[in-house]
Amino acid sequence: MTERSRKKRKVDESSDLEEARPAVRPRRNSSLDEDASGSETQKSPAIRDPQFYKADGNCVLRVDNTLFRVHRHYLAPEHEQSVFGGLFALPTGPEAVEGERDEAPIVLQGDTVDELRAFFRFAYSSPLQLQADAMSDDDLVPLMLTAKFADKYRLESFEKWARNTILHLTARNNGQALKACAPKVYVELLLLNNLSPDSTTEERVRDAWMARIRRGELPIAHALGVTETLNMRSFLGELYYEQLRALDPAALAPSCTAPVRFDAPGLSDAQKIRLLAGHRSLSLAWARIVEKLLALPLCTASTCPMRASAQTSWRTAVHRTATATDTDLAVFARLKGLERGLLRMDTLCSSAQEAAQKALASIRRRLASSLADHFLGPAEPA
Ligand SMILES: [Zn+2]
Repeated sequence: MTERSRKKRKVDESSDLEEARPAVRPRRNSSLDEDASGSETQKSPAIRDPQFYKADGNCVLRVDNTLFRVHRHYLAPEHEQSVFGGLFALPTGPEAVEGERDEAPIVLQGDTVDELRAFFRFAYSSPLQLQADAMSDDDLVPLMLTAKFADKYRLESFEKWARNTILHLTARNNGQALKACAPKVYVELLLLNNLSPDSTTEERVRDAWMARIRRGELPIAHALGVTETLNMRSFLGELYYEQLRALDPAALAPSCTAPVRFDAPGLSDAQKIRLLAGHRSLSLAWARIVEKLLALPLCTASTCPMRASAQTSWRTAVHRTATATDTDLAVFARLKGLERGLLRMDTLCSSAQEAAQKALASIRRRLASSLADHFLGPAEPA
């Protein structure tokens, strides 16, 4: 199974984030036509969409109780293997043909009226209106709905256009569109990105979301839930770490007799256990890091006059960081502090400086890439 299809399936299975994605109901075809929900929908009265019921349209679609009458070529562009293209190409019989009259529309399932309105709004726009610079930040949501619809029905060039425009909107003005949007936009963007992953979108959403969590504007619990469902491991690691940092340090401080007690609003019991597992694991890792740093050989030149003093002042600095009074596990902040402190240490020769900087940067990098493992356990082999 490819990465894409695996991710796709993951999302399909998560009922609370997105409904299953059944294909368009096959036309005039065996028992599938008797599909219970489908015939139920068809019985309830339908209304014509005020904007996209075009008098000269040649294709009637029904979503929920809304009828759209549109032009086929938007749904089945030439040179593209869209789902509708295949549908329109099916041979028709003498009796009522689906999609030609209100009474016999093509019934779409798993789609929403908003998705169709968004798609047709862009489909019926002029090329000038479709230019990215003509779009406002408010167009982000309709664009996402459009990309989702286009992905489902394999309207490839439309999907590509929508995705590129989303990238453009989320990047311009320093990412302003993602700085103040509703958290739902992050969720939708990540879901959409899961259909065909690209790291730029994911990074932008992560950065914007994380920044607001750090400022206390948005709750961690919501992001944790979404990230868990989408199985975004490294994002999860960052979120758990952030949650750990947000806890009252005193609650996790070692004590002779008092049990660990902490308050992490909105977290499930399983998530709290992962948080504690991560705390323990990072504490152990930090102890090993200190050991390693203390034993780090800095300058190896036997003729260097600063060799001994460099080693001593380095060990003093590491000791001071290791026994700092803060009890939270700010491992990254501590490593950063050491790195900054190094620059002020005039007792280190240049090769000792270099060795220490290199070791700290390497530890920080490896710790960042394995952060999720501390909370979730080792990753499954790919
Ligand atoms: Zn030296």
